[in-house]
Amino acid sequence: MTELVVAIDGPAGAGKSTVTRRVAEALGYTVVDTGALYRTVAHQAEQRGVSWDDAAAVTQVARELAAEDAIRFGPTQSGMTKVFVRGEDVSTAIRSSEMSQGASKVSAIAGVRDALLTMQRTLGARGGVVLEGRDIGTVVFPDAGAKFFLTASVEVRAERRYQEHVARGDSIDRALVRQEVAERDARDTQRPVAPLRQASDAILVDSSSMSIDEVVAFIVDKVHGLEAAAAKAPK
Ligand code: C5P
Repeated sequence: MTELVVAIDGPAGAGKSTVTRRVAEALGYTVVDTGALYRTVAHQAEQRGVSWDDAAAVTQVARELAAEDAIRFGPTQSGMTKVFVRGEDVSTAIRSSEMSQGASKVSAIAGVRDALLTMQRTLGARGGVVLEGRDIGTVVFPDAGAKFFLTASVEVRAERRYQEHVARGDSIDRALVRQEVAERDARDTQRPVAPLRQASDAILVDSSSMSIDEVVAFIVDKVHGLEAAAAKAPK
């Protein structure tokens, strides 16, 4: 069977991480969580006392991480991909609410996106991979064999994010989570470089009133069809 590059893009809280992991399991593909790369840049900048608003300095941090090939993905545990920077496990640190905002800020810097582009393309180059992000189908892999744009209403997405925090034991205000989701939406869709938008050839999946099982089954079915079509197509 021909193994494809599968792109799953969409806004925060659409269920991308869970769906990506389950789709990859069902297909026997690996997962690339590209948001974790932006989160790691934000985290490393903070560790070095670099402001997220200092575009040149944050770009330098991202370039060094890329040049040293310093970011490694480990296995997924409790639904979360393990991330290591120069051997240090940053998996939990990068998923805080503060790093969500930091990632959203540093990801608007063109130099940061550029530094992470080659890394993402290398991770997906051999196919048999599901990449989740914001611009996979539009910028990173415009020729991906299967593209999905997974979304849901802002209310549904904010509630899901809130429940994730509750499950992790974070004490956080529901209204604040909603505000943060709305702020991230605005920043991700309005930035001049690689803004969040649906690729013209991506399949739209609105998960507002769908269960995770339904979303996963829908995507896996579509990918199986596309794999079969790719296997038949003349090389
Ligand atoms: O998906 P996740 O919530 O981990 O992403 C964190 C932030 O990283 C997003 O809000 C977005 O600003 C940025 N991001 C991006 N492009 C990607 C993945 C994430 O700009 N491919």
